[in-house]
This record gives sequence, structure tokens and C-alpha cells, in this order.
Amino acid sequence: MGIVEDEIKKFESGNCAENAVFFQAMEEVIYSIAPLLESDDKYKKYAILERLVVPDRIIKFKVTWMDDKQNIKVNTGYRVQFNNALGPYKGGLRFHPSVNEGILKFLGFEQILKNALTGLPIGGGKGGSDFDPKGKSDFEVMKFCSAFMRELRKYIGPRIDVPAGDIGVGTREIGYLFGEYKKITSSFEGVLTGKPSFFGGSLMRPEATGYGAVYFTQTMLEIEAKESLEGKVCTVSGAGNVALHAIEKLQQIGAITVTCTDSKGTIYDSRGVDLCLLKEIKLEKRASLKEYIKTHPQAKYIPAEEYPEGAHAVWDIPCYAAFPCATQNELNDIDARNLIINGCVSVTEGANMPSTPKAINDFLSHKICFAPAKAANAGGVAVSEFEMSQNASMSKWSFEKVDDKLKLTMQEICKRVALTAKEYGVEGNYVDGANIAGFKKVADAMIAEGV
Ligand code: NDP
Repeated sequence: MGIVEDEIKKFESGNCAENAVFFQAMEEVIYSIAPLLESDDKYKKYAILERLVVPDRIIKFKVTWMDDKQNIKVNTGYRVQFNNALGPYKGGLRFHPSVNEGILKFLGFEQILKNALTGLPIGGGKGGSDFDPKGKSDFEVMKFCSAFMRELRKYIGPRIDVPAGDIGVGTREIGYLFGEYKKITSSFEGVLTGKPSFFGGSLMRPEATGYGAVYFTQTMLEIEAKESLEGKVCTVSGAGNVALHAIEKLQQIGAITVTCTDSKGTIYDSRGVDLCLLKEIKLEKRASLKEYIKTHPQAKYIPAEEYPEGAHAVWDIPCYAAFPCATQNELNDIDARNLIINGCVSVTEGANMPSTPKAINDFLSHKICFAPAKAANAGGVAVSEFEMSQNASMSKWSFEKVDDKLKLTMQEICKRVALTAKEYGVEGNYVDGANIAGFKKVADAMIAEGV
């Protein structure tokens, strides 16, 4: 039995339905790091894999709050503190009805290696709740955030664990969470990142993940000697924080971004999407994308349920570069085939694990430039770490300074990943390059810190 099969067998028993996405993430890493495990037996000797796939702790708590009609509501809150070998636990909070322990374990596990790739002193964690902010009033969101923080604050701190946003948790929610923490502790400290910029938030944090994904793609295309994004048609999925800012940066560099999606449907606007309108619909009104065609009747709205089963409309639109920026497993092998047939040259994961394993295999076997999430979307956490630095020194950096540092960080990650892939005999495979480089950094720290 080979080293990969050997390792996977050890973890198979924990593969219950809830853990499926966690197992998917873990399996990808185990396959990728096989050349490293084979080249140096210290990782087996110190049982790094066995230690890395088990979180340091999983905190689960009840969140009780009252809606606007005085009904008492109960949700479940979680924080998965996965690994702090490199620094305080760091990772977002997700508020979405689908949240469970398995999803947070997958996200937390990915976060460890992603944070390691940034080269910054941060460990990995993730948290959230099955609370659904959709359709809730501003006051209800505030009351939920306060109740959530009353429990969470027992486990976090600027040197312990520093949460940030994710799906369903943006600047508004981080503001309420921070406000409650401050009231309880009387301490104004960098315990959360993604705060509004007028009280401790870093400039450019909202833009960071989307912009970073574009910077990564530019570097990857350069390394792989492909044409730049300028003037090219790009497709983006999602219409949240990551997607909107990926579209913004793509437009700034002269690409034509023709799509966006939400959970209900896809907008296809061949003239390029109207970003101002999108921001108004999604950030101000928090409404459905369907609204878009009221202003732009030439655009097409394709409801999700009207598309043939198994495929997603957004990936059937010809493009030079694709940016899945919504959620996990939103791009499958049928979508990958459609993209490849239509001449797509590069795929960049803005969301966490948006491509299924079969889709990734198709991209790699067809020599598509494929930028995996843990490298390509690390810009968000990198700027979060910049926010921690600014908070610790009570300083504030300019937009330009943060942007320059972000660009440099993404370029460095991309080059490191490409170099690692080459070093381990898988040149051009950014999935293996990212997994090996991230794993090695954490593993070496774990060995140095003792058992
Ligand atoms: P937002 O909540 O701002 O936006 C999420 C978008 O994805 C929305 O358009 C939402 O549609 C759509 N979406 C969510 N769930 C589903 C689903 N099950 N099916 C179809 N569409 C869905 O989240 P973010 O933009 O912050 O996050 C997007 C992705 O990027 C996530 O995978 C997240 O983990 C990852 N990420 C985010 C970072 C950040 O800095 N925010 C950092 C690194 C990774 P609708 O509006 O209808 O709900």
C-alpha cells in the first residue's frame, strides 16, 4: 500500500456525511504532499498529519436572542481553533443556515495552510453559526451578533484567536460583534479584523480577497507565459464581498467581466456588468440579482432552477479567465468541461474550495492555469494580519500602502507556490505547490515546538 492510501485509510472512519467536505479538503492535501512525505520521514516520525487533521479544540455554544416580534430564537455557535503553530488562531466567521461542524472543520483546515502561505505569523481557525441573516432586520442582526459575542468572547483575544468575516458576516456584523466585545471587556483591542475603517479596521480589507485573487492570477499568467487579462472576457460567480471586489479589480485593469451570480440565479451582461448597480442591489438593498435587468434589460437573468441539472449557467459562458467566488463545490466536472470546450485559459478560486475534485483534475489534465483557493484567496487574511499589526501599534496605514503590500504578498505567494511545484516535480501544478509549501511551513513549526 502506498503512502497516500495508507494515510487516507487512517482517516476514513471519520468520514460521516457532515464531514464530507472536510474529508474532501483533507484528501486533496494528502495526495499533494505525498512527494514531501516520501522525501523526508520526519513528518511521519512526528505524526504531523495525524496531529494536523485534528483541531486543537472545537467550541460549540448556544446563542439565544429575541427577534423583532419578541419571539425567542435559538441558534448554534461554533469556533474551531484548529492549529496555532505559527501564530494566534485566525479565520472568519460564517453565518449561514448550512453551517455545521464539518463545514467549519473544512474551512479551518484550509485556513491553516492558507495562512502559512502568506508567510505571516497566524495560525488557522474558523467559526460561525447556522443563523441566517437574510430577511432579518438590522436590529435582529445586531441582537444576534451581541448574543453570539457574549459566548464567543470567552475564547478569543488579540494573542489567542482573532476572527474575521466570511459568508453572511461583513463590515456591519463585525461592527456589532466588536461593539459587544468592547462593552463586556471595556477593552478596545484588535480582537476582530474586518472592522469598519473609522474604528480600527484596515483600509482595503473589504477589497483584499477579490483584489488579491486578481493579483495572483496576473502573476500566474505571467509565470505560465500566457496573455494578460487586459481586454479579455472574464466570468465571476457570486455577488458578495469577494465577487464584487474581484469584478472591481478586473474592470480596473481593463478586463471585461460579464457575469455574477447569487444563490437564486445568474446575470449575463455581455457589455460588462454594471458594478455600481450591483453594489446598490447587493450591499445597500440586500436584494435579488433579478433587480439588475430592470435597469439593464439587454442583460440576461438565468434563474438557477431553469438551468439543466448538474451544470451552472455561469460556467457555460465563454471566457478567457473564470473566477468562482461564491461557495464550496459550485463548479463541477460538467462545468469544467464547458469552460475547457469554450477556450478558458485560467481558473482562479476566490471562494473556498469552489471546484470539485473531478473539476480540478480536468483543469490540471488540460493544462488550464488553475489557482487554488488556499493560495489565490489568501489576500483577505493577509490584510487581516495587516489590520492586527496596525491595531497593535495604534497606527493607520494608507490605502496605497496596504494595496502595495497586498500585491507584493500575492506575487510572493504565487512565485513560492510555482517554485515549490517545480522543486517537487509537478511544475505548473499550483494545487500541489500550495499544499506542499503550506504544509511544510506548519509541519516544521510543529516539530520545532515539540509534541
Ligand atoms: P458573501 O456572503 O459576501 O457572499 C457570498 C455570495 O455567494 C453571495 O452572492 C451568495 O448569494 C452566494 N452564495 C452563498 N452561498 C451560496 C450557495 N450555497 N449557492 C449559491 N450561491 C451562494 O461572502 P464572501 O464573498 O465573503 O465569501 C464568498 C466565498 O469566499 C466563501 O467561500 C468564503 O469562504 C470565501 N472567502 C471569503 C473571504 C473574505 O474576505 N470575505 C476570504 C477568503 C475566502 P446570496 O446573496 O443569494 O446569498
